[in-house]
Amino acid sequence: MSAPRRVHVIGAGLAGLAASLRLAANGVAVVLHEAARQAGGRCRSYRDATLGCRIDNGNHLLIAGNHAAMDYLRRIGAEASLIGPAQAEFPFLDLDSGERWTLRPGAGKLPWWIFQRARRVAGTGAFDYLSGLRLVGAPADATVADRLDPRTVIFRRLWQPLAIAGLNTETEQGAAVLLGRLLRESFGAGGGACRPLVPIEGLSESLVEPALDRLHALGAELRFGSRLRALEFAGERVAALSFDEGGEPLAEDEAAVLAVTAPVAARLVPELSAPDEFRAIVNAHYRVAAPADAPLFVGLIGGTSEWVFRKREVLSVTISAADRLVDAPAEELAAKLWPEVRRAYQLGDAPLPPWQIVKERRATFAATPAQQRRRPGAATQWRNLVLAGDFTDTGLPATIEGAIRSGDRAAAQLLGGALALQAKGA
Ligand SMILES: Cc1cc2nc3c(=O)[nH]c(=O)nc-3n(C[C@H](O)[C@H](O)[C@H](O)COP(=O)(O)OP(=O)(O)OC[C@H]3O[C@@H](n4cnc5c(N)ncnc54)[C@H](O)[C@@H]3O)c2cc1C
Repeated sequence: MSAPRRVHVIGAGLAGLAASLRLAANGVAVVLHEAARQAGGRCRSYRDATLGCRIDNGNHLLIAGNHAAMDYLRRIGAEASLIGPAQAEFPFLDLDSGERWTLRPGAGKLPWWIFQRARRVAGTGAFDYLSGLRLVGAPADATVADRLDPRTVIFRRLWQPLAIAGLNTETEQGAAVLLGRLLRESFGAGGGACRPLVPIEGLSESLVEPALDRLHALGAELRFGSRLRALEFAGERVAALSFDEGGEPLAEDEAAVLAVTAPVAARLVPELSAPDEFRAIVNAHYRVAAPADAPLFVGLIGGTSEWVFRKREVLSVTISAADRLVDAPAEELAAKLWPEVRRAYQLGDAPLPPWQIVKERRATFAATPAQQRRRPGAATQWRNLVLAGDFTDTGLPATIEGAIRSGDRAAAQLLGGALALQAKGA
């Protein structure tokens, strides 16, 4: 099929934005439909009335090795909107023992740094890191805990926190192959690839608003409050899209990218195999300013909080695979997590500041071997319909990087191959 003249992209999360940018930059007329009043989906910022400032719906960490995300940021002119340490470094605090350490992978591809105690996780030896190689070639049905020994210090202090954050799934259930892929693209690619990056202002300011500006500049049409209700199929094509506000017939030279969440895609596309099990993420935001020279984030071992991020106006806790907490009262969570935040950022006995708890019940699909098997590819049986979204089979767990790759891939599919992505600086 030659490249379509016009494409309707459904869903303005990062997958839909990425697909729209690629298509519009290749001269395709793009109409981007988003059910909500704003773009960004699960990766966005908003003003919180209780805190009196803008917050992100959840703390998101990128690494320099997220090449599709870095390329996306370059194309929307937002590279400089992220901040991170000059070298890869991950500060940790063990809440049980009080030990602090900073993991500092060296810049090169060969991991010589594991032989330097000051760069390692406290209590680990150089050869402990080789256990990570057990993820290479792990069978598709193996879990993280099947491949990495949960009784070891390196498991408790490194593999487990990385796995829970990266997969948003418990180590007893998370797919070893997905953690293996994450580690290959980070630690396996050298310390340069591991350099952590977070938005200076917020997720929307870095990843969403500049993308919308770029789409405007490329002539794309953006329709907010536009919810797709049904797809109408005719033979091997989608013949029309049905929105609340009316139908949109698809001409022979028109196509659609469905970049919605897994449950919505499963409702709209007959017999679609898609993940149907999800995990929650809980974030706790505290209105307090930490010293500007304090680390951008701290990993916590042995508590309920897993990572604490320092933002301009808040300190913010992330807890992944947090289904056990989603029904706990917000007051209880805020009071329970605050002492851990105080310790992470050495705030003495500072009283509980204004706070907000944000619970994303279906933050991501559960990255289990069984769910992994349910992930669909981009192509569908209808020649003018392609899928995008973090739940599609990107080889990665549900991440910004995976969502952007899925959008790029959907566009490439419609444009007739990856080569088109090189064209016109797309
Ligand atoms: C709390 C939290 C923390 C996270 N932390 C990280 C992190 O640290 N690092 C990382 O890489 N990733 C992280 N993620 C994952 C990351 O946010 C997602 O993988 C990514 O944003 C998914 O993008 P998407 O475009 O696939 O889906 P979504 O963002 O869900 O976008 C789908 C869009 O489709 C729209 N839509 C749905 N139905 C319809 C319809 N019928 N018609 C029109 N529009 C529709 C939705 O409103 C939404 O805007 C986190 C996620 C959460 C929730």
